[in-house]
Amino acid sequence: MSEGYYYNNSRDKKRAAKRRKAYLYRGIFAVVCIAVIALLVFLFVKLFGSRGGDDPTTKAPVSSSTAAESQTQSKEDDTETEGSSEEESKTQSGQSDANVQQALEEAAFLAAQYDYDAAIEKIESIPGYEQISAATSALDEYQLTKASCVAVNPDTVPHIFYHSLIVDTKRVFDRNKYGSLVDGYNAWMVTIEEFNQVTQTLYDQGYVYVMLSDLYNKSTDSDGKVHYSRNTELMLPPGKEAIVLSLDDLAYYAQYPDGFAQKIVLDENNELKAEYVDANGNVLVGDYDWLPLLDKFIKEHPDASYKCAKGTIALTGYDGVFGYRTDEGFFSNPTSDEAAWIAKHPDVKLEDEIQKAKVIAKAIKEDGWEFASHSWGHRPMNEKSLDWLQTDTEKWLSRVEPIVGETDILIFPHGADIGGLSDYSMDNEKYAYLSKKGFHVFCNVDASAMYWSQFRDSYIRQARIDIDGYTLYTALTKSDTVISKLGIDANAIFDQARPTPVIANGAG
Ligand SMILES: [Zn+2]
Repeated sequence: MSEGYYYNNSRDKKRAAKRRKAYLYRGIFAVVCIAVIALLVFLFVKLFGSRGGDDPTTKAPVSSSTAAESQTQSKEDDTETEGSSEEESKTQSGQSDANVQQALEEAAFLAAQYDYDAAIEKIESIPGYEQISAATSALDEYQLTKASCVAVNPDTVPHIFYHSLIVDTKRVFDRNKYGSLVDGYNAWMVTIEEFNQVTQTLYDQGYVYVMLSDLYNKSTDSDGKVHYSRNTELMLPPGKEAIVLSLDDLAYYAQYPDGFAQKIVLDENNELKAEYVDANGNVLVGDYDWLPLLDKFIKEHPDASYKCAKGTIALTGYDGVFGYRTDEGFFSNPTSDEAAWIAKHPDVKLEDEIQKAKVIAKAIKEDGWEFASHSWGHRPMNEKSLDWLQTDTEKWLSRVEPIVGETDILIFPHGADIGGLSDYSMDNEKYAYLSKKGFHVFCNVDASAMYWSQFRDSYIRQARIDIDGYTLYTALTKSDTVISKLGIDANAIFDQARPTPVIANGAG
């Protein structure tokens, strides 16, 4: 393996980062030294000008104007450089040092997220970068790593998904309070600790989150017909594997037990966090669900994400989105759970909720996530009639899409596909209808294989792997499940607070 492949493992990456830092610090140290000497000389000449003729330091006066001059010259003509002293004089001004350092840091971040072209462009935007060794070595490194990258095969990319995370197992698994519902949450959800461990494991295995939409190209012809093809230009360095992530039902349904977050909010730093009410009734804002947790992880491990990719958030409509009650039916025709929720939150108003949800939706998109429909009513589309499908889809399009924007992705509720393994065709009335309504990318659930997909001109279909209590439980005793193939050691991470056995309860 050549020296340039810095991203093959984290040790190499750390070494590369260390080296970048060393160059930076060396440059900054040199500049500081020169500035201090210049200041001392200036003061000396000023104070002892007539008497200091014999002092050798007065022979090499440096003023800010000459420094500025040499900086201008160096931009225009490289031939006038004088080795390292040129580099030092170029960075005389503290302001320009800070700019150079900032540009280097931004470039390092872009490269860490596999955007080598942008990183290279960033370096080349630094005035006189050819004379700054930290810049040229970074440039070399990015070019080498870029050249080593391998195209991802979109057909073989695993797609994993989660539901909202269990914050407090004691409260969620309270069988006296929630009866047999506990079995559902035990099967569908993972705990915060389990999520964190899976996230770390996947990162250690070299998995890199890419967007579902990174896997394909989409174009529209002159008749308005949409065409899809595999994206064969998604490049990652050797040793890195693409993985797609989706998250279902970010609604914090009214029927959810205590022990889950209750809405997504922006904190005082304008960062996306989850609001959680603890067992003592304290309202807390923090990393209480996968959204802020993954944000935090990627902030700490930028190379876990391809070009800022996060995941696809699949939204239903009947209880609103992100914990905001944005559906008119929630208030006009509530179920008993919804009525109980309204009684607990008497001040919540539909219009306010819609406005708040729009702000959150915008922030989530800017944060690197994309949205998918998960149907409005979360019923299995394979079992329901075409009539039901049409009514349900119209509700999603009129009540959810105005909040989150258009999407061509449909993540089937309960993973229930509208067709079998053979290709969709226009003979499938449900497919024909959904296609007419703008849905062309479909995801079902199949945790029996690492990947399954159909890339067709008119649609894309992909299977998803549920990472939940049931699949973790199954992996405790079976060593050949997809969970273990992903490198996840279920025995090490399975939360001991879970009631066992974990009973299959459907997924998605
Ligand atoms: Zn769902």
